Amino acid sequence: MGFHMHILIALLLGIKRNWHIFAGLLLGIVCGIVFPKSQYPFAHHVFTFIGQAFINIIQMVVIPLVISAIVIGISSIGDNKQLAKFGKKMIFYYAIITLVAVSIGAILGVVIRPGDGAREFIDADIAAELQGVVSGMLSDQQSHIAQIFLNLIPQNPFHSLALGDMIPIIIFVLIFAIALSKIGEINRPVVSFFESIFAATMKVTDWIMYLAAPGIFALVASSVSSFGIQIFSGVGKYFIAILIGLLIQFVFVYPIMLKVFSKVSVSKLYSAITEAAMVAFGTASSSATLPLTITCCEKRGISSKICSFVLPLGATLNMDGTAMVQTIAVLFLTQAYGIELSMLAIVQIALLAIVASSTCAGIPGAGLITIALVLNGIGLTSEQMVEGFSFLFALDRFTDMLRTTANVTSDAVVASIIADNANEINYELFNNPELQKDIV
Ligand code: ASP
Repeated sequence: MGFHMHILIALLLGIKRNWHIFAGLLLGIVCGIVFPKSQYPFAHHVFTFIGQAFINIIQMVVIPLVISAIVIGISSIGDNKQLAKFGKKMIFYYAIITLVAVSIGAILGVVIRPGDGAREFIDADIAAELQGVVSGMLSDQQSHIAQIFLNLIPQNPFHSLALGDMIPIIIFVLIFAIALSKIGEINRPVVSFFESIFAATMKVTDWIMYLAAPGIFALVASSVSSFGIQIFSGVGKYFIAILIGLLIQFVFVYPIMLKVFSKVSVSKLYSAITEAAMVAFGTASSSATLPLTITCCEKRGISSKICSFVLPLGATLNMDGTAMVQTIAVLFLTQAYGIELSMLAIVQIALLAIVASSTCAGIPGAGLITIALVLNGIGLTSEQMVEGFSFLFALDRFTDMLRTTANVTSDAVVASIIADNANEINYELFNNPELQKDIV
C-alpha cells in the first residue's frame, strides 16, 4: 500500500476515534454556510457566544498548564547537559521545519502569483470597513519593532501573567525552572506543588474534551458564517497557494522529517494527534490547543519529560504554518500592487517571516499582526499597507484555522522526534492505540 494511503487511513482512524468532534466540525461548516452572518446575525451571535465560551474554558487551564509543565519538564530532565541537548535539538528541528515552510511559501508565491489581478478586490468594502482599526494596529507594530523584542523580556512576570502574554511568561518560567533544578533537594516542595497543578490541569482538560464537539461546531459555524464562501471568489489563487503549501508540509515535509531523524511512524503520529489537530482548526489557537496536544502525545507514550518541555515552547515559538502564510500574504500584496521584487527581497521577506512568526503568540490572528514586521521596506506606500493589511485581516480567520493546524502538528512532530532520539517513547503504546490510558 502506498505511503500516502497509510497517512490517509491513519487520519480516518483518528477521525473514527473522535468522530463526534469531526461531526461537530462538518456540521459547523454546513451551518456556517446555511446561516451567513449578513442574513442571520442572531444565529451568528449564538455560534460566537458558544464558541467563545469554549475557548475561554480551555484557555483557563493554559497558563497553569504551561508553568507547571515547564517546571516539571525541566526538573525531570535534571542535568544541564541533557537540557542543553534537548534545547539545541528543539531549536534545530523547529528552525528546519520553518525554513522549509517559508521556502515553499516563497516558491508558491512566485510560481502561482496569487496577487495578480487582485487589486480591484482589495478596494472592496470588506477592507474599507476595517481600515480605521487596522491603521492604528499597523503603526503600533511598525513604530516599535525594537519594543516588540524588549516586551518579550518580562519586567514583572505577574503583569505578564495577568495579561496572558505567553512569550514573557515562558521566558520567566524557563529561567525560574532552570534555577530550581540547580538548588538541589530544597526544590522538592515547589516541584511537587507544580506536579499537583499539572495533574489537576490535565484532569480538567479531560473534562473539557466532553465539550469539544459542541465547542468546535460553534467555532467553525461562527467563522464560516462571518467570512462566507464568497471570500474565495476573486482571490481564490491566494487560498490555493496556501492550501497547496500547507498540504506539502503535511504530506511531504513532516513525514520526511520523521523518516530522516527518527523511527516514528507518521501515520501513527497523525492518528494519535487527530483530536488536537481538529481542536487547533476550530480554535485557531496553538496555546488553547496545548492541553490537548500534550494529552494526545502523552497518552500515546511520548514521555511527559519531553512533552512538558518541547510542546509548551513549540506552541509559542514554532509557527511554521504562520511563517508560510505570512510569506505568501506579503508576496500577494506586492503582486496586487504591481511591485516587482528582486530575488534578494523575496529571501528577505521569507527570513523576516521566520522572525515575525516566532514572536507571535499562539492565539487567533496573532500571525497577521506580526506580519507588519515583514511588510516593512518592501515598497508599499502607507495607504497601500493599511488597505492591503485590512484586506488580509478580512480573509484571516480561514487561513488562521489552517495554519494553526500545521503549527500544532509540527509541534507534535518535533516532540516525537526528540523523544525518539532520547529513547523517551513507549513504542508499544505508540503503535497500539487500544492500549492507551488516561494520564491522570
Ligand atoms: N493562530 C496561530 C496559532 O495560534 C498564530 C497565527 O498564525 O495567528 O498558532
